[in-house]
Amino acid sequence: TVRVRFAPSPTGMFHVGGARSALQNWIYAKQQGGVFVLRIEDTDAARNRPEWTEGILNALAWIGIARDTYEGPYFQSTYAEQHTAAAHRLYQEGKAYYCGCTREMVQERAGAQFRGYDGFCRDRSLGPGEGRALRFRTPDEGSTVVVDLVRGEPTFENKLLEDFVIARGDGSAVFLLANVVDDMTMGITHVIRAEEHLPNTPKQQLLWVALGHTPPIWAHVPVVVNEKRQKLSKRRDKVALEQYRDEGYLSDAMRNYLMLLGWAPSGDREIVPWSVIEDEFRLEEVNPSPAFFDERKLRAFNGEYIRALSLPDFVAACQPWLTGTPVAPGGTDVPAPPWDPSAYDPKVFEALAPHAQTRIALLSEVVPNVDFAFLDEPVADEASWAKAMKDGAADLLDASIAAFEASSWDAESLKAALEAVGTERGLKLGKAQAPIRVAVTGRSVGLPLFESLEILGRDRTLGRLRAARA
Ligand code: GLU
Repeated sequence: TVRVRFAPSPTGMFHVGGARSALQNWIYAKQQGGVFVLRIEDTDAARNRPEWTEGILNALAWIGIARDTYEGPYFQSTYAEQHTAAAHRLYQEGKAYYCGCTREMVQERAGAQFRGYDGFCRDRSLGPGEGRALRFRTPDEGSTVVVDLVRGEPTFENKLLEDFVIARGDGSAVFLLANVVDDMTMGITHVIRAEEHLPNTPKQQLLWVALGHTPPIWAHVPVVVNEKRQKLSKRRDKVALEQYRDEGYLSDAMRNYLMLLGWAPSGDREIVPWSVIEDEFRLEEVNPSPAFFDERKLRAFNGEYIRALSLPDFVAACQPWLTGTPVAPGGTDVPAPPWDPSAYDPKVFEALAPHAQTRIALLSEVVPNVDFAFLDEPVADEASWAKAMKDGAADLLDASIAAFEASSWDAESLKAALEAVGTERGLKLGKAQAPIRVAVTGRSVGLPLFESLEILGRDRTLGRLRAARA
């Protein structure tokens, strides 16, 4: 049976490129009736933290890879003995040798044209000793061909592969070997991972063979880049899945978008049900060139997904931002809303929700759109006030207050009332609305005005209009 693995290192937030690879592994396993194994590669003790592991598990669950659908998590650090045993075996079989060269010595011998280790200790028959690393003896001739479902058969000339280190001076195995030993132990048949690892692949394949196993089938999926074609990096770009989640991207939108990095479903479609992606996705069809992570497009996607929610689902999805609670277990708290929690009224929110649903792209944007209903006083956006409260605004507000006082309290009537006030002054409705909107909501843009006034109610609306005149 097919066995794939996702093998993240818990050194930080969960990278969107990693989420993409995880999903591809997961779908591939599902399509092949195989098993998805999760392995946490936690051997870099200095950079690993348990909370990052928790974060990965939670982020995977959020994106649709639930804990009960995979094998593991296994932890690489618990297999250290197997890793060193494999290194030792390679040494005993003459496939690896001890090397006493320091980095400086290697550099010095190579001068300017450093092209990897020069094989100085290859035939010196050194035994183990303080500070001696173990190097794998790569073949001098021929080539190593890796079978890659995305890239065909990348071919590497063996003479260009240096005798690389497999165990450090203290005897511990390096990542390259640990990764292979774990894949062998876990019976991995297909290694689906990011392109960044392709240079390691011929070395790793040689290790598979040297350790007496049939190498896996590889699939190196494209590097994910920003608009400048630079690899997405956590210092420069917004890469953390958790951050997208906490800003109000829906997991369905996110995973749909991630699957479009280098692949597309049939028929010019982009937004499709997840079941279609699970059916149609083909690893062999993934485009090997760098995949552009287009946040604007993702945002537009998210808006579409938000609009496709039923109203109750939309209301439920907004709750974290309305209450300042984590979106998913273990998530960072989203910012607390600006209103006093006791002022929040779910009925009022439900009335406003359909108007918000059609105009936001991120769930977090619901807050500035509805805060006017739960704050004692509208937010004071100075620039909007200054702009809206110019000459004539006072007169317009006074007339509107009078007209609204006389009006029945529904959106239609309020609109008619303001229209009449505007017409008397030669103002189009849009212009007449501006000071009213700012006085009542504090902002120059927002939900449809008359519906907002209806929902806010007569007393509060008139109170705010009067306050704006005081
Ligand atoms: N731990 C490695 C990483 O996070 C995974 C390498 C692999 O998938 O083989 O990049």
